[in-house]
Amino acid sequence: MVRRVLPTLGIATVYRAIKRGLEGGTLREVPLHGEPSRYEPAGLPHHHHFNCRSCHKVFDIHACPGSRLLRALTPRGYRLESHDLVLHGQCPSCAGASAT
Ligand SMILES: [Zn+2]
Ligand SMILES: [Zn+2]
Repeated sequence: MVRRVLPTLGIATVYRAIKRGLEGGTLREVPLHGEPSRYEPAGLPHHHHFNCRSCHKVFDIHACPGSRLLRALTPRGYRLESHDLVLHGQCPSCAGASAT
């Protein structure tokens, strides 16, 4: 995405910047199943992600199943500390395109 704005930017420079951001705590990794990880600024309010299987875009979801539900899913004796949630499917424009 950055390369579209800065076409002369080398990919090695981008990876170096990402690595620095992760080490410095200004970036966090968004691991996706079966796709390259995405990165976002650290310290955003708690949220989740929707990964479109057609266009491979990742959308922020500003909703959470909530700690009560997640605690109910946690097996007895385990201590829940954090969670990641990625929804997979189709974004509105891809869902619309396949419906026609
Ligand atoms: Zn899509
Ligand atoms: Zn959550």
